[in-house]
Amino acid sequence: MKPVIALVGRPNVGKSTLFNRLTRSRDALVADLPGLTRDRHYGEGRVGERPFLVIDTGGFEPVAKDGIMFQMALQTKQAVAEADVVIFLVDGRQGMTPHDKTITDFLRKSGRPVMLVVNKAEGMRYTAVVSDFYELGLGEPYAISSAHGDGVNDLVQEALDMA
Ligand code: GDP
Ligand code: MG
Repeated sequence: MKPVIALVGRPNVGKSTLFNRLTRSRDALVADLPGLTRDRHYGEGRVGERPFLVIDTGGFEPVAKDGIMFQMALQTKQAVAEADVVIFLVDGRQGMTPHDKTITDFLRKSGRPVMLVVNKAEGMRYTAVVSDFYELGLGEPYAISSAHGDGVNDLVQEALDMA
């Protein structure tokens, strides 16, 4: 089985941008994944010789027990359950939000290995862009730009080492 990476984070942090970059020029629809739900949010990527599967998620908002946001939270929980490693994306331009803390609590309970990744970091100093996020207690944050590709290959190599 290829290792499975789940992309998790609140809406608009850049999950789908990262997903598209990781699965670019691949068949974004993985036709047959034994044991995994067939879903358009599954894709296949490769760094060097290492293939992996990646799951995009719709976003994670703590909300009422019905409606679209609740469904998206369910989808995220399922993705985390299927993942070997979770890439938890936050927005380095917006900084920390209460939702980021809620997601952190959920991920910690999941027991999955988590990489805290600060997106939208292009053109910003590392120390400035990550400083907000140490208090999440998820270790040293990674800084990337999904849109420009900065840091993405190294991130995935490290994620696969953890998977
Ligand atoms: P999602 O809701 O987490 O899937 O986020 P999207 O991938 O849809 O991106 C939300 C917005 O952030 C879009 O306008 C993207 O163009 C923008 N965005 C994504 N990645 C980056 C990045 O690395 N840098 C900047 N500046 N913007 C980004
Ligand atoms: Mg998205």
